[in-house]
Amino acid sequence: MSDESPQAIRAEALESILIEKGLITAEAVDDIITRYSERVGPMNGARLVARAWADPQFKKQLLTDATSIVESFGFEGGQVEKLVVVENTEKVHNAVVCTLCSCYPWAVLGLPPKWYKDPAYRSRIVMEPRQLLAEMGVGLGSNVEIQIWDSSAEIRYMVLPMRPPGTQNLKEEQLAELVTRDSMIGVEVLGGVEVPGELS
Ligand code: FE
Repeated sequence: MSDESPQAIRAEALESILIEKGLITAEAVDDIITRYSERVGPMNGARLVARAWADPQFKKQLLTDATSIVESFGFEGGQVEKLVVVENTEKVHNAVVCTLCSCYPWAVLGLPPKWYKDPAYRSRIVMEPRQLLAEMGVGLGSNVEIQIWDSSAEIRYMVLPMRPPGTQNLKEEQLAELVTRDSMIGVEVLGGVEVPGELS
């Protein structure tokens, strides 16, 4: 008995056949899996966010021309030929969707979560963003404006989340660890952290 999903079983069967027929190698498959689990993922976006929090000049560049910034970092994964970063503030909350399908900036966020491709998310984040965000744990005051960005094959968006309170003494690497994938899609607001002996 296996508790794996039908998709996982199908993928495994397909992989076995392709290896058996000599069309791919097990090493090539492992390499792709390693790439997407260790080198391509939200940790790359988190590095950009942490640096933007720590360095106002970098932040300005990131908000002006994220495409060039990402290019200079040389992240793998692609899908950032044109990347736009939008900043969350006390007044404006941004969130990202692809209403048409599932366009997503792989090089900075990795592969999209399942819910991102869900028709319910794709329609509701546009039709009733405040309600959906609240359901996802982001309760926004009525004074906060919500902006939804529709990613496409041409332009991908990423959110620069607000820096959590109590983090003024953290170094860039420590800041990066606080940044979650969902906060860079705009469906999570980062909470404050308690640093022992450094409470704000
Ligand atoms: Fe798409």
